[in-house]
Amino acid sequence: NAIPRVALVTGTSSGIGEAVVEQLCRLGHQVLAVDFNADGQQKADRAGAAFMQGDLTDPEACRGAVAEAVKRFGHLDILVNNAGIQHVDSIEAFPEAKWRHIIDLMLTAPFLLSQAAWPYMRKGGWGRIINIASVHAQVASPGKAAYISAKHGLIGLTKTAALEGGGDGITANAICPAYVRTPLVDNQIADQARMHGMEEQEVIEQIMLKNAAIKRLIDPSEVASLVAYLVSDDASAVTGSSWNIDLGWTAQ
Ligand code: NAD
Repeated sequence: NAIPRVALVTGTSSGIGEAVVEQLCRLGHQVLAVDFNADGQQKADRAGAAFMQGDLTDPEACRGAVAEAVKRFGHLDILVNNAGIQHVDSIEAFPEAKWRHIIDLMLTAPFLLSQAAWPYMRKGGWGRIINIASVHAQVASPGKAAYISAKHGLIGLTKTAALEGGGDGITANAICPAYVRTPLVDNQIADQARMHGMEEQEVIEQIMLKNAAIKRLIDPSEVASLVAYLVSDDASAVTGSSWNIDLGWTAQ
């Protein structure tokens, strides 16, 4: 049985973050869930996690989240950077404010959270940083410049954290999923169906799964299972790596 650890997970009101909180609580860890959406409270209560409402595009909220975890649980061992959004526009049309928002939330917040968590992990001689990246950290698609740039950058942050943490028992790894069935993807399916005048099922099969060897969407719990492995002691030799759960997308 795993030693109970203290974990901070971001973006927990729905989708992958919600599933990760449930999984870590099931494993007996103490979890602080952080989200700007107040619905996160209910979800956290149900899983047996603590909740903090905060907008992680604000650097003070990032530092505040780590401080809150330490205040509640006395320590911090595991950080799962998951909060993310999407915006689709060509580079030519991409609003600068959207670009900055996405970089702030999906690249700067993981950096600030890692920075704030670092002293606690170093002190304990044990730490796990899991960055939820994307297949779009490995390959690009048109229309997603900010998201793809943030996710590629997150791999760089993951590798740097792995090198700096190696001597202190801190590992850092990224998970790169293809399309996972979450509200973020449901919205994209609806948008694309409208844009192309297609049925939603056609969008899934012809657009989203075009490059996939396995023709189905991924379940959030499948990502949470990999998080469970990466935060375990069994994974203490695994660091600086990117784990694709991409239905074979990047095999071609
Ligand atoms: P989701 O929309 O279901 O959940 C994202 C969560 O982040 C929400 O709870 C939202 O409230 C929260 N959030 C958004 N902005 C925030 C802010 N400023 N401050 C705090 N919280 C904020 O999305 P998801 O699909 O579960 O995605 C989670 C992560 O997984 C994202 O980083 C996403 O890029 C990545 N991902 C998703 C997929 C997919 O297909 N769904 C694929 C690859 C990677």
